[in-house]
Amino acid sequence: MRQKKLKPQNSYRFLIQWFIIVVLTFMVVHPFFDKEFVADFEAYCPFGGMQAFSSFLANNTLTCSMTTLQISMAFALIIATILLAKLFCSYVCPIGTFSEWLGKLGESLNMRFTIKGFADRVLRVLKYALLFITFYFTISSSELFCKKYDPFYAIFSGFSSDVVLLYAGIAIAVMVLGAIFIRLFWCKYLCPLGAATNIFSNTLVFIAITGIYALLILVFKVEVSWVWYLGALCVTGFFFESIKMENLIFPRLSIIRDNDICTNCKKCDKVCPMAINVSEAIKVKHIDCHMCGDCIEHCPEKGALTINRRKLRWLPPTAVVVLVLLGIYLSKTVEIPTINERWGTEQQMKESKVFTQSGLKNIKCFGSSSSFVEQMREIEGVLGAETFVGTHTVKVYYDPKLITEAEIKKAIFSPTKTILNAPKSDKVEIGMVSFGLNHYFDSFDSYFLTKLLEQNSDIFAFETEFGEPVQTKVYFNTKKLNPAKIKEIVEVTEFSFKEGDAIKKQTVDFQVVKMDNIHTIVAPKNFFDKFYSITDSKFNKFDTYKESEIGTYQIAIPEITNSSVNDSLSYLVSHVSINKAIVGMKSEFTTEGPILDVYFVKGKIKETEIYQLLLSKTLEVQYEDGTKEKVKSPYFFRKEGKIIEKK
Ligand code: SF4
Ligand code: SF4
Repeated sequence: MRQKKLKPQNSYRFLIQWFIIVVLTFMVVHPFFDKEFVADFEAYCPFGGMQAFSSFLANNTLTCSMTTLQISMAFALIIATILLAKLFCSYVCPIGTFSEWLGKLGESLNMRFTIKGFADRVLRVLKYALLFITFYFTISSSELFCKKYDPFYAIFSGFSSDVVLLYAGIAIAVMVLGAIFIRLFWCKYLCPLGAATNIFSNTLVFIAITGIYALLILVFKVEVSWVWYLGALCVTGFFFESIKMENLIFPRLSIIRDNDICTNCKKCDKVCPMAINVSEAIKVKHIDCHMCGDCIEHCPEKGALTINRRKLRWLPPTAVVVLVLLGIYLSKTVEIPTINERWGTEQQMKESKVFTQSGLKNIKCFGSSSSFVEQMREIEGVLGAETFVGTHTVKVYYDPKLITEAEIKKAIFSPTKTILNAPKSDKVEIGMVSFGLNHYFDSFDSYFLTKLLEQNSDIFAFETEFGEPVQTKVYFNTKKLNPAKIKEIVEVTEFSFKEGDAIKKQTVDFQVVKMDNIHTIVAPKNFFDKFYSITDSKFNKFDTYKESEIGTYQIAIPEITNSSVNDSLSYLVSHVSINKAIVGMKSEFTTEGPILDVYFVKGKIKETEIYQLLLSKTLEVQYEDGTKEKVKSPYFFRKEGKIIEKK
């Protein structure tokens, strides 16, 4: 019989696997060339999507950082698993790909063996245990538990802060060593996603358990915790897998061996990554078969191995591509709320109205969604809220008899008062222009406006108040800028700014409306009083002294026009209070510039001693809990102060 030449690769699978590896490599190296690029290695993770959707069903909330995209991927995986085969394992999973490649290394060293018999059946319990633990903690906490140990996430994210080093270290070691020495150890015995896909491929059992659970809670109104449902799926999944090792009815694709054509050369057994004895089966129903097609590709006898007795080699890889694209399309058209909560009564909800607000860049994850919902709970008349992080949208359910849409908008809005740059001298004339600002919604817009305006050192501060459009005031140097220039600066469509070590490019679409053509002059003292906090501290038994016993040492402190230096005045207060002769301190913005008054007990400390204390290079700070710290002083006091007649 003519021998067909052995093909070196299963080309469809090879292409898809390499495509995924190239994309992942690109995501890893991209940040080295583009500091703005943030790789999201969980963006397409179906396992994350399964956990997120479970959390949504159990708690009405998605897990942190999960969106409809991952859930769509999870549904694509489940559909493929039930109707076709475990295609994610064979074509997509990077851990599976690396495990196979490492396995080839072990094979070439003649060091790889296959666990068989009783041990093979019992060890499979590990992945179901890991599946139960992962879902239990994820649903309980709304945080993806798998991130703590997932070898893929740990390696590609560079051991991000979500990763628990010990768990991930053990998982990576087991995955690598297991793959080299034991045939697909991770996939067969430890992968919780492998356990989940096996539960779905045992479709009839999955439907039966889900049906019973749904009947109990929906029809018979019995309160059964989701933990029982999860436990039942894991326990039955393990027993069906370890006892039967075969699928029933589903998935619908199977490898069929034609006994008349087969020469029993056993090449298929050798190449099967899952160590299935293909040459001994007529129809491969083994639960480990993920329809990779390697056995068909390497079989030397044309027609000896087929999928469902047809020429369907194209179907699994095509289905992978189609389902992934479908998942992406679905995620763009349908969005599941990250949080969906109602606290109004049934009657109130029937009569409620819905207010929808998009463009809230602050709604970007589970955490920000939670705080938004908590904020809404505090508002009388609001009955529920939904957040959609993908489109930065919120839906607020409200009682129109108690609250209006405008009042809800006002509650969502956070007014800001932001210092950008300190005026270079007290002689600078400060002007203020007010205008309405469109496309400004939340704290993210406030952040971008801050980054945009602070780049011009002649813009000193801005503040926003709720309004439609948002009422905005910008404070600036009248000698360098005017309202028209301010408008020009605010309305740029793209700008760059430094964030840490990275230069970020940001697109914005602020629109200035109803701007005054003339500006108002603001007195420096009024400006500083508005934007800078005043320190006025009394300590060391100040009140026990008579007015005549207390002297005032006054010194210029120009540094506090810098807001962060101004904020650390409490350190200076703590430092000088160590000397019991000093009993108070007050900062003030005068027409002469910022000054500091130091109150002291007359006769107990000299003027020069006060100055020396203020000049200290390090400040000794004592906290309320008694702990002490030394911090570098940001103050210079270049000009000596003087004693004045004032309390
Ligand atoms: S089905 Fe397997 S045993 Fe039979 S000819 Fe093909 S590779 Fe050889
Ligand atoms: S039996 Fe064939 S299709 Fe199934 S896993 Fe093994 S090599 Fe792949």
